Amino acid sequence: MRIALIRRLQRLFLLFSIVLVAGVVILAVRSFGFLLPRQVEHVTIVVPTPEQDTVPPLTVALLSGHAGFDSGAICGDMNAPTVKEVDVVARIVELVRVQLESKGLEVLILEEYDARLTNLDAALMLSLHADSCIFVSGYKAAYPFNSAIPLTERKMLACIDEHYAAHTGLSFHPSVTEEMTRYHAFRKVLPRTPTVILEMGFLGGDARLLMQEPERVVAGITESIDCFLEEAEQKE
Ligand SMILES: [Zn+2]
Repeated sequence: MRIALIRRLQRLFLLFSIVLVAGVVILAVRSFGFLLPRQVEHVTIVVPTPEQDTVPPLTVALLSGHAGFDSGAICGDMNAPTVKEVDVVARIVELVRVQLESKGLEVLILEEYDARLTNLDAALMLSLHADSCIFVSGYKAAYPFNSAIPLTERKMLACIDEHYAAHTGLSFHPSVTEEMTRYHAFRKVLPRTPTVILEMGFLGGDARLLMQEPERVVAGITESIDCFLEEAEQKE
């Protein structure tokens, strides 16, 4: 009876000793800076790797006016070949894309009624068009009449007034229509995506600039976008 009790106590003591030794070993391992497997896993997940610190490139969406839908304005007479707005715009959009990509930006080219406009999340959505065939000169720019971020979009307009005007030599033409401020694409993108529509000039009065000197138009647009993205960065 007494021997059995002593053996039971011995076993309990042995078990207690094992737990104690195991505890001391774990503490010793920790204090020497070694990590247990579970902690290694934990640390691997929590500590950000350099890849996680890298900011993804900003996406700029360029809507190529009338693309995939119609011709837009069509100009021409017996003395001049027919010019379609959709073609003039597409050529400029492509040149702007090359410039923006060379600056490390992600560029998304959209058609007029592109399905990707729905809930589009981008640093900027700029729709490019050219105005009618009349012999008038100037550019026009507008943002949504019911914008959730009018201050941000006004910055883009200010950048256009500074850089687009300087490169093209065009002045702002004060004939912004409701068609522009209530532009269909404005309603589709996420409210936090800044959206602006730019009528780059008139196919009539600005034909030479739009068709013979597109590099000036491209520089004006690229620098306006640069200016806007820099301003947006400063705000943060
Ligand atoms: Zn148009």
